[in-house]
Amino acid sequence: MIKRIIFDIDYTLLVPNYSHEVEFFKNYYMSDYFMNNIGKVLEEYENSHLRYEVYDFLNYLNKFSKSNLDKEFLYNWFCFNTMLKKQDVSDSKELLEYCKNKKIEIVALTNWFTEVQKKKLEKVGLSHYFDNIYGGDVYLKPHLESYLNAIGNNQPSDCIMVGDNLLVDVMVPSQLGINTIHYTQDKCEHEFTKVKKLTEIKKYL
Ligand SMILES: [Mg+2]
Repeated sequence: MIKRIIFDIDYTLLVPNYSHEVEFFKNYYMSDYFMNNIGKVLEEYENSHLRYEVYDFLNYLNKFSKSNLDKEFLYNWFCFNTMLKKQDVSDSKELLEYCKNKKIEIVALTNWFTEVQKKKLEKVGLSHYFDNIYGGDVYLKPHLESYLNAIGNNQPSDCIMVGDNLLVDVMVPSQLGINTIHYTQDKCEHEFTKVKKLTEIKKYL
């Protein structure tokens, strides 16, 4: 029996505005490399660090941006992240409501800063469903600590994780014995359970 559901947030429960970040970065002096490779730069940080730590992260960013980004930049970046495009989250809502009614614990495991992710969920009207939100300033996926923390006091087999990223939301937690569901619109061939619509997940709960 599933006791806890662990949700990825970005591109799973809501659509973030990361694809428009260049508009925000243009307000700062930054190297072309940074502007064109921000996704890769962040992924490398996440793979090589256990969590996001503000000053360490800023130093890291400045290595690539050749800039002098400070705490204020980070604050403004976070504010920009919370300005989401109007979007339809009715499927997310329907699934969360279903979990709540079944008394399944609902948590999020997400790689961006907790406060920002919380605000984004608030903006689309989903935050009140969550018992806890574990951001990248707690532990980063794909480090095992992040999944072990997100299952709380449950056995891995009593939990199910849902996300769009095959590696960090599905493959790694599966290795720990957590049930997983890959949420994707793409045609991909793999052994893991996958759904095209979040509401399809009800049948696995
Ligand atoms: Mg995601």
